[in-house]
Amino acid sequence: MFMEAFYSRFPDIAAAETRTLHVLNDDRLPTGEYNFLEYFCNKRGCDCRRSHIAVTSPQANNEVLATISFGWESLEFYADWMSCSLSDPMVSDMKGPALLPMNKQSEYSEVLFDKFISVVLDDTYTERVKRHYRLFKDSLQRDSSTRGHRNRKDKRKAKRAIRKKNRKKR
Ligand SMILES: [Zn+2]
Repeated sequence: MFMEAFYSRFPDIAAAETRTLHVLNDDRLPTGEYNFLEYFCNKRGCDCRRSHIAVTSPQANNEVLATISFGWESLEFYADWMSCSLSDPMVSDMKGPALLPMNKQSEYSEVLFDKFISVVLDDTYTERVKRHYRLFKDSLQRDSSTRGHRNRKDKRKAKRAIRKKNRKKR
């Protein structure tokens, strides 16, 4: 599984619909813009229904300041999906929102995580991430079908070449 940025496949939609937070006069966070970039898993056929949200800021050279795991389905869904018990911490990490220690974090992670829960995360936001997830997953499907088509074409070409060769031999 590899988490790929939504903007890498849909730059225009991402530019218009990525959540940005403007921070001013906050004693816990430097003044500036904070972008909540969505990442999805690009494993074909995997329907994990979650996102990693990487928080970056142009004031901090666009480095990742916090990585938030966010799954919009129920705990039961993730427990079932991973064949884990409901109380397994991996299940609550999948659902999130959670800061994952193995992902990139910074001294501002906790504050940005608070902002995510109190300011960014609501029904409209969740619906938007779900829509982006669908677009992203559908584009993976398209990738695989065009690749399959190309393979079939190549095979036909190869067969024709062999036939030609055989004819020459005769
Ligand atoms: Zn997945």
